[in-house]
Amino acid sequence: MLELRDVNASIGIIPILRNLDFFIGAGETVALIGRNGAGKTTLLRTIMGFTKITGEIRFDGRPIGAMPPPARPGLGIGYAPEDRRLFSAFTVEENILLPAQAARLSAEETKRRLDRAYRILPELREMAGRPAGNVSGGQGKMVALARALMLGTKLVMLDEPFQGLAPALAQRYAEALRALRDADRSVTLIITESNPALLRGFADRTLVIERGEVAEGALEPETTPA
Ligand code: ATP
Repeated sequence: MLELRDVNASIGIIPILRNLDFFIGAGETVALIGRNGAGKTTLLRTIMGFTKITGEIRFDGRPIGAMPPPARPGLGIGYAPEDRRLFSAFTVEENILLPAQAARLSAEETKRRLDRAYRILPELREMAGRPAGNVSGGQGKMVALARALMLGTKLVMLDEPFQGLAPALAQRYAEALRALRDADRSVTLIITESNPALLRGFADRTLVIERGEVAEGALEPETTPA
């Protein structure tokens, strides 16, 4: 579903990523690990279109390298950066429903997706009526995830999702991500993490990035699980 061929990416005139050649299959959960500064965030930003690249990026078989960033979410590519941008005066449920409204989904489709989001993240149902300004950091991340699900996002990219969460909340959020993976193998997850222990036993595959290059874990399409 996501394929990078001989991609080099730079920010301004500074080359950051080199020789990226890998494939990620639909429904895979991939841990993207590497030291601080290795290039994890830049790789996610590259997939979203925020760097200058040479080489080719394909999503669902379609070349997207030249596509402007705002067009990419419409294909099902979602980036949930650490900054979660909730509307604090709106309720949790209103925040979850906003993208559905913006996308003009039918009432039935909206309800179907909302039920699915609540099934995967049950505590959101319990806090549906609370102002989003009153939820904790971990809960806010779940709201952001539910919004991505409402949009029908097929590729969810999370940048250091456990950062800044108390251990119990990080644990709970990791469980929510696992529930998402188990409930819906049509969603592909790429999760960056500088502490690989948090993702052990959960990711299907680990891509290791070192000094701007993928050092380990790049499989060819033929050998990637569907
Ligand atoms: P972290 O875990 O610290 O976020 P990371 O693996 O995500 O690390 P990146 O943020 O992708 O790493 O940074 C990769 C390299 O690119 C670093 O050497 C960084 O200094 C450089 N870099 C990132 N953004 C810019 C920028 N806007 N201008 C110049 N260099 C940048």
